[in-house]
Amino acid sequence: MRRLVVVSNRVALPDEGAARAGGLAVALQEALQQNGGLWFGWSGRITPQSSDSPHIRQFGQVTFATLDLSRKDHAEYYNGYANRSLWPVFHYRIDLADFTRENYQGYLRVNTLFAEKLRPLLRDEDEIWVHDYHLIPLGEELRRLGIRQRLGFFLHTPFPAMEVLVVLPSASRIVRSLAAYDVVGFQTAADLRAFHDHVTLESAGEVLSNGLVRGFGRTLKADVFPIGIDVGPMVAAAESAHRLASTRRLRRNFSECKLMIGVDRLDYSKGLPERFKSFERFLEKYPAWRGKVSLMQIAPSSRADVPEYMQIRRQLEAEAGHINGRFAEFDWTPLHYLNSSYQRQTLAGFYRFSQIGVVSPLRDGMNLVAKEYVAAQNGEDPGVLVLSRFAGAARELTSALQINPYDLEGVADALARALDMPIEERRDRWQDLMSAVRTGSLDHWRDSFLKALTEAPYTVET
Ligand code: UDP
Repeated sequence: MRRLVVVSNRVALPDEGAARAGGLAVALQEALQQNGGLWFGWSGRITPQSSDSPHIRQFGQVTFATLDLSRKDHAEYYNGYANRSLWPVFHYRIDLADFTRENYQGYLRVNTLFAEKLRPLLRDEDEIWVHDYHLIPLGEELRRLGIRQRLGFFLHTPFPAMEVLVVLPSASRIVRSLAAYDVVGFQTAADLRAFHDHVTLESAGEVLSNGLVRGFGRTLKADVFPIGIDVGPMVAAAESAHRLASTRRLRRNFSECKLMIGVDRLDYSKGLPERFKSFERFLEKYPAWRGKVSLMQIAPSSRADVPEYMQIRRQLEAEAGHINGRFAEFDWTPLHYLNSSYQRQTLAGFYRFSQIGVVSPLRDGMNLVAKEYVAAQNGEDPGVLVLSRFAGAARELTSALQINPYDLEGVADALARALDMPIEERRDRWQDLMSAVRTGSLDHWRDSFLKALTEAPYTVET
């Protein structure tokens, strides 16, 4: 019987605590449970030497196999190439990218290590689904070791336009590595188009009919699979959130005042300094709203030992201090900047009782917060989603108030418009948004990707 093997940079063990068990982990585990499965990846531990053999744990039908990484491997593969070269380039921040041969070699070395340690665990009937930019070369490495099983890859981040990707010294190797898979999934049609451009213009490949691509001596399917959220649990959490102490305290604190909410990992791709500046512009331009609305920005730290992340954190602290120093009154704080993380249950209540959801990344693969905010609203009196056109989610959430996050004045105007939006318009927009969120659910994403993988290998009809 077919067995699913999931490979991701970080493996979430079921007993590691609810905080880690994101929607993705739940959705993948459901698929793994069906016929038994294997989840392979980094343990999250840094040890003197990278593991010689994986740690194996069994939970029900699912086997978890994890490797520890040495400090050098972690520094070069994860903090180095993945998060200082691929991440910024994939998010159009070539100004922040750093390219060193050591980091690139470390990235390839860890991908080789993963392939070598995974190979003995594989069975003939396995279907292997690799996730995200950390592991692009893994498929090619597995093929080199003789693996003939179906191999799928899903990129959670954007795939940049060709003119941007070619800045990466190893761009052609990255594109060639993708061709080792049978199915390559992207978040949006724009990402797929960029991949097609690389294959045809830089690599002399061909885009065929029905989503097939021929290049580097192989034929593969490249398609769009927009990731979604687990809608039911978010709706249920939001509907029962009034019972949570955190929601009650939030409502009490903001009883006199409307609330805008932003929830983002502290990452330069999320457009937080621009968001703060737009909010400042809004307070300047619409003084009647002073004292009547606050922005609560939740921004838990991530990748805190990468220098660019330390820098953005300092910048936001300064910006938040500046805005509050300029506008706060003894009984009103315009900007609540929270540098800590909250459980999704708590967030559900915060989303529901915020009149505006502000999601303004400069670039984002999808952005699940946008979908969570929609799912958490009360359909009778829904809040308004203000959404960057540069988030993958903007392609589906067309009834959001879409903004260009670089246009600070435009965002300030959109915030004012959202606050004044009549109830009928809010309801109409929310109904469209909710139906898009339901259609593109997490289950739908997983099932459609796995269906495409099961249909591989793809051959060209002549
Ligand atoms: N999240 C969370 N607690 C926090 C902040 C964020 O659980 O304090 C969750 C949020 O609910 C969402 C995810 O982290 O499910 C962020 O996903 P998104 O696609 O928006 O951005 P990413 O961090 O993957 O770039």
